[in-house]
Parts: sequence; structure tokens; C-alpha cells
Amino acid sequence: MRIVVLVGGIGGARFLLGVRAYAREVGAEVTAVVNVGDDLYLHGLKVCPDLDSVMYTLGGGADPERGWGRVGETWTVKSELAAYGAEPAWFGLGDRDIATHLVRTTMLTGGYPLSAVTEALATRWQPGVRLLPATDDRLETHVVVDDPAGGQQAIHFQEWWVRHRAEIPTHRFVFVGAETAKPAPGVLDAIASADVVLVAPSNPVVSVAPVLAVPGLREAVTDGPAPVVGVSPIIGGAAVRGMADRCLAVVGVECSAAGVGGLYGSRSSGGLLDGWLVASEDAGAVVPDVTVRAVPLLMTDEAATAAMVRAALELL
Ligand code: GDP
Ligand code: CA
Repeated sequence: MRIVVLVGGIGGARFLLGVRAYAREVGAEVTAVVNVGDDLYLHGLKVCPDLDSVMYTLGGGADPERGWGRVGETWTVKSELAAYGAEPAWFGLGDRDIATHLVRTTMLTGGYPLSAVTEALATRWQPGVRLLPATDDRLETHVVVDDPAGGQQAIHFQEWWVRHRAEIPTHRFVFVGAETAKPAPGVLDAIASADVVLVAPSNPVVSVAPVLAVPGLREAVTDGPAPVVGVSPIIGGAAVRGMADRCLAVVGVECSAAGVGGLYGSRSSGGLLDGWLVASEDAGAVVPDVTVRAVPLLMTDEAATAAMVRAALELL
């Protein structure tokens, strides 16, 4: 059995722990197609927050409390940069994490595509899941916000999310570079040969949407042979962690399991989903032409998450 999972960062990483546990049980192969819209250059280093969240989490190197970055992290470089007044100061790069970005940046500068770099980094972390960036090309999520000087301006997603905590007047999201991006090598093949495509309970607006914005990728999923089952990131009308509620408000979608299911839409009418797994709290949620089932959706540990995955696969 082959499982493809569309994922963002922390929510996606936790979900993949459950997918991997399930896959080990049944002998399935897992490919994760990971969002790159959050990627950015900081202090000359290429940082891929979602790929790293997934890689560190599956590799046992993530900080479980903070949710992002490395466990046992130290911050010497960060404080040295601050002593120079080097901007931006709002993004925390830990010392251990910086080693990853140094290796990645060196390889990218040497001409390797991000997918090859990701594979090389994964030889250390042995995530047990094939990790593919959605694209090797530049695809950055920018956010159109009010410009304090008047009018509007576009800022990088990370500046909006980390620096402004998504708390400034916001108009829309733009996936810069999406028109000309190509799916990374292996992505279309993985989708075409999948037995099922799962949409992780990742942020639908800024994690899953930029993955699907790569031309050809959405069509590969919607027109492909494999059934598509999504898992709701919204439980009882609230995002479990993070600020998905703010993102949904920007795109005018109700922060609810039915709202996100409706945003994805039914595959039989041009949307994404055949099945939509919602939380027990949201039993009764309806998405037209999509099979909906309610089960506990809190990813408290690997076993609970594997049970979610089993329910998703049994849904159809
Ligand atoms: P990010 O890129 O690090 O922001 O992570 P993702 O986009 O992959 O995941 C963020 C989403 O995960 C948020 O919208 C949360 O609502 C969702 N999430 C986090 N923990 C849980 C959980 O235990 N259960 C469910 N169903 N969703 C969760
Ligand atoms: Ca992210």
C-alpha cells in the first residue's frame, strides 16, 4: 500500500508520526509532500520551517514543548547576532538548527535542488517517510497587509506570523512564484501511484493551499486514481494550536470543521475531498458530496494519531 500525505509543519509532523506508525503495522510506504511557502533566507541561510519540523519530529530531534526547532537547543549565535544589531531579530535560529541551514544552503549554492538536499539531510534523521518538498522552485507565501505609511504592502508570511502574530489588518495571501513552479521530482509519480492521498490536519490556508498551488499538483490529486481523505485541523470551532482561525478569517471561511471541509470541497464537483474526518465534537458536520465521519482527533500521542489514520483509511 502507498500513502501520500499533504502536510505543513507542526500539525503535519505530528500527523505523520501516526501515519508512520500505521504504515509500519500494515507494511505501507509513505510519501509526505511538504509545504515550502514558509521558506525564507535569514542571515544568508535558507530556512525551510515546515520541512524541518517534519524531519526533526520524525527523526526524534524536535523540541516537544516548543513544537518547532531542535530539542536541547542553545542560542549563542542568536545573541551574537543581536549584539551586532543584525536584522531580523524576530526569528529565532538556534545553534543546532543553524547547522541544518548551513548544510542546506551550501548544497543549494552548489547547485543541488531542494528535493536532493532534503533527501541528503534525511539520511541523518531517517524519518521513515519519504520527504518531498512540493516544489524545488521558489514559492513563497506573502501576506498583503495595511501599510502603516498608508495603502497596502506585501510581507513575507514569516514576518506576518512570527513578528506580527497575525494580529495586523490583513487582506489576502499571495503564493509568489506559484505560476511557474513545477512539482518537485517524484511528487507527481507518488500521487499517481498512491492508493490513498491524505490531507493532514495542517493549516488549510497557509500550509495545504500553497502545496496545491503548484501547477499540476492539485490536478494530479483531484484527477488521480487514489481516493482523497482530509483530516480536520479545527475541533469544536477552534484551531487546536496555532492561528488557523486568523487565516480562515482572512479568506472568509468559517472556523469550523464544516467550513474547512467546504473550502476543500468535494472531488466529485471540482474540489479535493472524497472523505472528511472530523472530531467527535463536530459530529453532524456536513460537506456536500463528501463522506464525513467523526472520531477523536486530538493527536495526543502516536497511538491516538495512528487510530485517526486508520479511521481515515476506513472512511471510504
Ligand atoms: P505549521 O506549518 O507548523 O503551522 O503546522 P501545520 O500547518 O502542519 O499544522 C497546524 C494546524 O495543526 C493547526 O491549524 C492546528 O489546528 C492543527 N492541529 C494541531 N494539533 C492538532 C491535533 O491534535 N488535532 C487536530 N485535528 N489538529 C491539530
Ligand atoms: Ca508552516
